[in-house]
Amino acid sequence: MAKKDFYQILGVDKKATAEDLKKAYRKLAMQYHPDKNPNNKEAEQKFKEAAEAYEVLKDDQKRAAYDRFGHGAFDPSMGRGASAGAGPGGMGGMSGGFGGFGGAGFSDIFEEMFGDFMGQQQRRGGEATSRRGADISHEMEISLEDAFQGKEVPVKVASWASCVACHGSGAEKGTKAEVCETCRGVGRIRAQQGFFTVERTCPTCGGVGQTVKTPCHVCGGSGRNRREKTLSVAIPAGIEDGTRIRLAGEGEAGTRGGPAGDLYVFLSIKPHRFFQREASNLFCRVPVPMTTVALGGAVEVPTIDGKRMKVTIPPGTQTGQQFRLKGKGMTILRSPNRGDMFVEVAVETPVNLSKKQKELLQQFASDTPDDKNNPQSSSFFAKVKELWEDLKD
Ligand SMILES: [Zn+2]
Ligand SMILES: [Zn+2]
Repeated sequence: MAKKDFYQILGVDKKATAEDLKKAYRKLAMQYHPDKNPNNKEAEQKFKEAAEAYEVLKDDQKRAAYDRFGHGAFDPSMGRGASAGAGPGGMGGMSGGFGGFGGAGFSDIFEEMFGDFMGQQQRRGGEATSRRGADISHEMEISLEDAFQGKEVPVKVASWASCVACHGSGAEKGTKAEVCETCRGVGRIRAQQGFFTVERTCPTCGGVGQTVKTPCHVCGGSGRNRREKTLSVAIPAGIEDGTRIRLAGEGEAGTRGGPAGDLYVFLSIKPHRFFQREASNLFCRVPVPMTTVALGGAVEVPTIDGKRMKVTIPPGTQTGQQFRLKGKGMTILRSPNRGDMFVEVAVETPVNLSKKQKELLQQFASDTPDDKNNPQSSSFFAKVKELWEDLKD
C-alpha cells in the first residue's frame, strides 16, 4: 500500500513553518487521540499517521531528506542506496529508529507535546515518603599560586540541613508522622482533566505520603531548616582551570530522612600577572633592553614557587627566543614532578634618547657594516630588491 504524503496527512503545504506543523499536529492529535476514540481503529490509524508525519517534518534534517527522497529516505530496505546520495552522516542512522512506529517513538513525541499539562506530574511518580536533597553548586576562584601549591579553602554554603530537634522526621518530640489519609501514603492522587486522567501530587501531604499531627516546633514540620555551614575544600596541587570538585553528601539535606545531595565546587583560576599556563608548563614574556641582548648579560625572573631565577642572555639574542627552565613550571596533578618554565625574550628598543645617546648611536650606525651586524635585515632587503628587479622585466 502506498504511503500518504506527510504534508497531506497534516493538512499543511510544503512551505509550512515549524509552528504551522506543530499546530496542525496538535489539532489532529487531540481529535484522534485513542482516549477520546476508544476502540476506533480508524481514529487510531489517523492518530499514528499524524504522529509519524510530524516526527519527520519537525526535524529539519529529516524533513530535508523527506523532501528529497520521499518515504524512501526512511525505508530500511533501501536505506543504503538512499543514504549514499545524501552524504556522510545523513540517512543511515535515521531509518533504524524509525521503522517500528507506534511504540517508543510515539510516546516520546506525545510527551513532548503535552508534557506541559500531563507529563510532568506523571513522571514524578515513585516518590514515596522521603526525598533526596538537592545538589548545590558553588563557584570558586583561586590564584595560579594556589593551583600550584594546593590549598584547603573554607567554603560557606547556606543550605537546607536536617532538623536536629526532630532528627528530620518533622514530628514534635514524642510524636510520630502518620500515613496521609488523602493519598493513603502514595503521595499522588488521580484527577480528571478534560478527557485525560492525570495524576498529581497530593495537596494534603505535598507528595510526601505522610502527615504530621504535631509538627516539630523548630522546623515547623518540614524536617529541615536553613543553615549556613562552613566546609573545607581540598584543592589538590596542579589542578586545572574549570575543574569540578564533588563533595558527596554535602548538598542539601533530604526530607524526612532522605539522603543528602552533593556539593559541586566549580573552580576557576585567575589570570596571572606574569605567567601563562599551558598544561603543566608556564610561559613568561620578559622585555630585555637592546644593549643586554646585544652585549649579553642576565635577567632575573620570578618563579611560581615565589623564588627568583637568573637567566643568562647570550650576546646576539633575538626577540621570541625562549629559554627553558627545567622543572620550574606547574605542579603535575598527583605527581611529585613539575613542568617547565619558558622565558621568552622581547627585545626593547630604547626610547627617550638624550642628545648624547643619539650621537653615540648615529656614530655606531655609521660604522656598522649591515651584512655583518644585521644579517637578517640585510638578507631580507637584498631579497626584496631582487623582487623589485624581477618585476621591472
Ligand atoms: Zn524539626
Ligand atoms: Zn497525601
